[in-house]
Amino acid sequence: MTATVSNPVGTVGNRFPEFRPEEQYRMLIGDDWVAAADGATFRCFDPFDDREWGHVPLAGEYDVARAVAAARAAFEGWATTPALQRALILQRWAQLIRDNVEALARLQVHENGKTITEMRGASEFLAMTADYFAQLALGPVGLTIEPEVPGHEAWTLRQPIGVVAAIAPWNNPLGLLSWKLFPALAAGNTVVVKPSEVTPASTLLLARLGREAGLPPGTVNVVTGAGATGAALVESPGIDKIAFTGSSATGARIARSAAARFVRTTLELGGKGAQLVFADADLDAATSSLVNGIVAGTGQACNAGSRVLVHDDVHDEVVEALCRKLGEVRIGDPLDPESVIGPLASRPQYEKVTGYLDIAAAEGSELLFGGRRGSEIDGIESGRFVEPTLYATPEPSSRIRREEIFGPVGGVIRFRDDDEAMRIANETRFGLVAGLWTTDVSRAHRLARRLESGVVWINTWRAFSNNVPFGGVKSSGVGREIGPDALREYTETKSIWLGL
Ligand code: NAD
Repeated sequence: MTATVSNPVGTVGNRFPEFRPEEQYRMLIGDDWVAAADGATFRCFDPFDDREWGHVPLAGEYDVARAVAAARAAFEGWATTPALQRALILQRWAQLIRDNVEALARLQVHENGKTITEMRGASEFLAMTADYFAQLALGPVGLTIEPEVPGHEAWTLRQPIGVVAAIAPWNNPLGLLSWKLFPALAAGNTVVVKPSEVTPASTLLLARLGREAGLPPGTVNVVTGAGATGAALVESPGIDKIAFTGSSATGARIARSAAARFVRTTLELGGKGAQLVFADADLDAATSSLVNGIVAGTGQACNAGSRVLVHDDVHDEVVEALCRKLGEVRIGDPLDPESVIGPLASRPQYEKVTGYLDIAAAEGSELLFGGRRGSEIDGIESGRFVEPTLYATPEPSSRIRREEIFGPVGGVIRFRDDDEAMRIANETRFGLVAGLWTTDVSRAHRLARRLESGVVWINTWRAFSNNVPFGGVKSSGVGREIGPDALREYTETKSIWLGL
């Protein structure tokens, strides 16, 4: 069954009146906004119309070393700044973010083609994250312990680790950076940030707001560039902790390098989330959520629910509703508030996703909905668009069932009982997010425990809160971000003994 519906397509005119292709960006090292020492730059393009929008410094080893040295020089001062003072700076930063939500959101749309609705929401969340970590900065810093050994007292301190390398991806560039940057600063560390080469400008704006909020020079440094810049930062001997969000392949490379020097890591990696629909589920709510899981963020989300597991009894009904609702998803200019699907973020990303459409065809996967790309889509003349697409994926060996596609592409798998559902849900090497749709409370509790996943959503999807931890198991990562214990990832415990 292949639906032939055409998705509604929207556009807006006069997209970026402030657009300046000759713009020369500067990165932040210590107190200075600088070019790369050797003058090297790279160019950035808007994924909607492929227009070049600026030149950004390409940091080399020398620039990275300078940034790490600046962070090191600032460390002692920041670590000994009273926590209340650090919290006040984070709160001022939160307010400046709120005052600049529109600028931050539009800049990210310009960079990664995500929809303005998503990027506004993410920018508002960013301010909440800064406020949340301002509160955590004021929390308790250790325990007083009555030791087993008579005549002694003991207590623990939680001390900042030192210089943190924060490496971020492009798909939610500021939000995912903030889960590293704000806790690191709240705990008294200094930071060298390496944004994705796709999204450097929004990160530089965020850093500028941080400096306006009162961050001392060197507490936050930003080096711009691609993989080689990131690798130079990871390998820098001056780094004490690496906090990374990105692909599992890059994460594994970073983990190997960090292990050789016992550098602490937090790794937030890829996903292949399973959404499970049981026969007793509220099918209308479930199918709307399944669509969201496939198309939100144009599918460029680690928390995508790209594997749709449906009980045999409701399989056909669910697939029919899913195809109908996928047909209502609006594709278009990401600046149009009505758009749900924008262009894919970059040329390599478009090639990767359309490559999976070719793989699906070569594997003989049954196309249930969509499957068109670029100008094959009615009403699309420019930009790297892929339609919302759904396949039947009954074959466990199929690559589109096993691998992270990172585009608006889902696969449907049928199951007959709870055990089979668990076996299929847990079959991938990923374990970031999973969801259950059922009205049977006992089953929901039972299966939530059995899912190999860092996060389980029951009768909801993509719910986020700064005080609920997020992170993965298996190849989806190591460690947790946000949540009440988030500062643990950015502190070391010291035990102090006193003989009485
Ligand atoms: P990526 O791994 O290609 O790049 C991520 C960052 O690492 C970029 O800044 C990049 O320049 C840098 N980098 C690349 N090679 C490096 C190296 N050798 N050493 C150090 N840094 C290096 O990932 P991406 O394409 O930017 O992001 C998409 C991936 O991120 C997907 O797999 C997605 O699932 C994952 N992701 C995970 C989460 C999560 O919370 N688990 C959230 C969002 C995205």
